[in-house]
Amino acid sequence: MTTLVFTHPACLEHDNGPGHPESPARLRAVLEALHQPRFEALGWREARRASDEEIERVHAPSYLAQVMHAVPATGRVSLDLDTAVSAGSGEAALRAAGAVCGAVDAVAAGEGANAFCAVRPPGHHAERDRAMGFCLFNNIAIGALHARAKHGFKRAAVVDFDVHHGNGTQDSFAADPDLFYASTHQWPAYPGTGAADERGAAGNIVNVPLAPYSGGPEFRAAWSRTILPALADFAPDFILISAGFDAHANDPLASLELEDDDYAWVTAEIAKIAKEKCAGRVVSALEGGYDIHALASSAAAHVAALMKA
Ligand SMILES: [Zn+2]
Repeated sequence: MTTLVFTHPACLEHDNGPGHPESPARLRAVLEALHQPRFEALGWREARRASDEEIERVHAPSYLAQVMHAVPATGRVSLDLDTAVSAGSGEAALRAAGAVCGAVDAVAAGEGANAFCAVRPPGHHAERDRAMGFCLFNNIAIGALHARAKHGFKRAAVVDFDVHHGNGTQDSFAADPDLFYASTHQWPAYPGTGAADERGAAGNIVNVPLAPYSGGPEFRAAWSRTILPALADFAPDFILISAGFDAHANDPLASLELEDDDYAWVTAEIAKIAKEKCAGRVVSALEGGYDIHALASSAAAHVAALMKA
């Protein structure tokens, strides 16, 4: 069985404005990297739209309506200091969340071994009723709750190696002992959440903050010693990955010092636990990553590791 890639051209039409780091060029670079000959075995799928019902498992109905109504015919409307919507943003956001739901459906049905969602806007900062940090809908949390509601995977886990803490995902999961969220992230940094003592209702939240200029060895130690054992203990029925690549050494927005190999390593380790605990079921979705070349090469390393899993 192969690795599936879910994407949609609409995800290129969301425009935060000139000079904004979360640009369509990011996704174009990832798609180009995944069309190299070594990725020939990938199974490409068009992302569907998420339904209102799927989005409203995570977001307030009033917030979904607010985002869709904010979408302008031309120009841009700001929803947050650094998050805007343009004419293409509504469709992009529905396809980004729908990609993760569709990927969950496909992996649950055994159509692929695992899946990567090459989408934007990203999602892990989006809260129940708030757009934040380039994120409109929390794609990964929507996918996790979809896995549970639609397919009966009771215990869903999200692991997050984006350089920023996924405050939105943590918020959605913290009170529910059957949901698990774990993250490494630079500390201090945006958005300011993710202290090690934020543990959720049942120890189901695991945060490992890393000091600026921590590199691969510190990152791998955090996963080996803390996150991977906690993930295995949680015994997930489904694992989702918030795959941001902004902890890369070349990223302009942060200063962890990861290399492509670190992403290949962590992906393989997560996949190992997925094999042991949940028949290999893994769905990953693109979050951050703002150096175009580092993003493309590290996303490629991540997907290559999924293919080998
Ligand atoms: Zn990030």
